[in-house]
Amino acid sequence: MLIAIEGIDGSGKSTQASLLYDSLRKNNKVFLTKEPSKGLIGVSIRELLHRNDLSPMAMQMLFAADREEHISKTIVPKLDEGYHVITDRYNLSTLAYGMASGIDRKRLEGICYGIPEPTITFVLDIGGDKAYNRLKALGKELSVFEKQEFLERARDAYLELVQGRQNCFVIDSSKPIKRVSAEMLNTVNEHI
Ligand code: ADP
Ligand code: MG
Repeated sequence: MLIAIEGIDGSGKSTQASLLYDSLRKNNKVFLTKEPSKGLIGVSIRELLHRNDLSPMAMQMLFAADREEHISKTIVPKLDEGYHVITDRYNLSTLAYGMASGIDRKRLEGICYGIPEPTITFVLDIGGDKAYNRLKALGKELSVFEKQEFLERARDAYLELVQGRQNCFVIDSSKPIKRVSAEMLNTVNEHI
């Protein structure tokens, strides 16, 4: 299975990806990975996130290029070796963040076209205000995407994107961490 964990910054993706990984690895071969990836393009993107001088579409094209590398060098090889792969962010991030930046959805769908479909996508849903407060509490430097109004637009875009999408589950991630992880694990167990 390929499991994608999506949602705005501060929604709890990394927390839940790691909890799901710990639960699944008791009985399964499972590999945890994330985007931006640890590859050359992914590392460059992490530097660019703290600057503001790339056009939104150029930025999303870099994310898509990083995903292509991530899929071909990591995700597909691990799936072929019999691992379940959990990825912290995938194609919906490009669509939701791109739409929140004002890019036309169809243009974004163009750069995401043809990639492997996740078996399950989780969208961790939370208000932009709550997510922003979580990020502020972490006290790290915030990227160009980590502004409350932007997070609210990205959340709306995610909720628009899940409409009519197969195997895509919206989880209320304002609930306590354990409630969220239990709900996700139940869904995964129904598919395993
Ligand atoms: P993301 O990877 O989506 O940006 P993180 O997993 O890093 O989010 O979580 C952001 C912050 O919110 C962390 O400090 C984390 O401990 C906290 N957090 C995550 N999920 C919850 C939750 N359900 N309730 C309260 N705090 C949470
Ligand atoms: Mg994270």
